[in-house]
Amino acid sequence: MSFADLSLHPAILANIAAAGYSSPTPIQRQAIPTICKGRDILGIAKTGSGKTASFVLPILQQLIGHSQQEKNRQPKALILVPTRELAMQVSEVAKSLSNQLPRHMSSMAVYGGVSINPQMKALYGVEILIATPGRLLDLQRSNAVDLSKVQILVLDEADKLLNLGFKEEMEEVISLLPDSRQNLLFSATLTDQLESLNRVLLSDPQVIKIAEEGEDTEQLINLSGYFVSDDRKGPLLRHLIKELKMKQVLVFVSSGAKADRIANKLYKNGIEAQAIHGKKSQGARTRALQDFKSGAVQVLVATDLISRGIDINALPFVVNYELPRSPRDFVHRVGRTGRAGDTGLAITFVTRDETHHFKVILKKMKRYMDMVDSTQLEF
Ligand code: ADP
Ligand code: MG
Repeated sequence: MSFADLSLHPAILANIAAAGYSSPTPIQRQAIPTICKGRDILGIAKTGSGKTASFVLPILQQLIGHSQQEKNRQPKALILVPTRELAMQVSEVAKSLSNQLPRHMSSMAVYGGVSINPQMKALYGVEILIATPGRLLDLQRSNAVDLSKVQILVLDEADKLLNLGFKEEMEEVISLLPDSRQNLLFSATLTDQLESLNRVLLSDPQVIKIAEEGEDTEQLINLSGYFVSDDRKGPLLRHLIKELKMKQVLVFVSSGAKADRIANKLYKNGIEAQAIHGKKSQGARTRALQDFKSGAVQVLVATDLISRGIDINALPFVVNYELPRSPRDFVHRVGRTGRAGDTGLAITFVTRDETHHFKVILKKMKRYMDMVDSTQLEF
């Protein structure tokens, strides 16, 4: 099947070709026609499988036919995401796919951590709005945006947005939307919470479940694990960076302070490393991610802040320096590699007293892992 079989406008097809996509991924094949029919959907497909275009393309296709009346210059599609970095990324995808359409369709990302005034000014006439919930509400309270004309609502990383942490903000945002609208929920992981909440949110949804992470037979993400004590983790990481000739590796830790410490230690050992976490300024966050994506920074030490949705082209290595608390976070962390058909290696450090917790994670992922005892290695 090709994109041309999905009844998309020729100008959209041209943008798809320019993006270098030759054929639709399974989730795109199923979600695009269903969304174009106006149905609500719950789309579950693994990390890196092209979910962004699965909602951006049918949004463009549906809006392209509407003429944007002067009097009604308010967002028609609202895409909610859990982090600022993801907002920027989704907005880049939306912009690249909405180039040179028969009529100009403007999209924009709004998110916190940067001054609000430029966003207020730039919002006029934006049809596709990508937002983190908090900043969206700030803008709405300042009357900079009117959400009453939203026809399509997307929750990207839906299970995260429907988590307790976002509950109040999400309820408020939803109360500002028209009752009659199309709802599209996307995620790589599905929780019970999501299953119950989507009953409230979605009307007669089509559930499109390609395969949750770990369920498919073809595994693009290779997993390997090391038993290692806390005090040997630093030397082991440096050893692996050298042994496996890692030019680009994303290292996950549990706190911002840890991320800073580990990045500093690597730097002192002559390895180009940066930290990214929620305690950094937005400028520093954006720069660290950009420099890592461009290859200027070899090691990015991160908290779960960027475990969701972030797409780093052909990232070969992820290291779990510390185990995440939930199996779901593990799935999203390792899913930063092995994207868009590429393969990747995710390495996990496990201390002896975490053995049980680690087994729980692997069981949830339906994966098995051979463990290396690092005391047997020389480094
Ligand atoms: P997900 O949201 O499912 O984790 P993304 O939407 O971030 O995945 O897409 C992952 C990568 O796949 C991106 O780099 C994107 O450009 C690429 N991609 C998306 N659709 C296609 C396609 N049809 N063919 C090739 N690459 C694609
Ligand atoms: Mg995504």
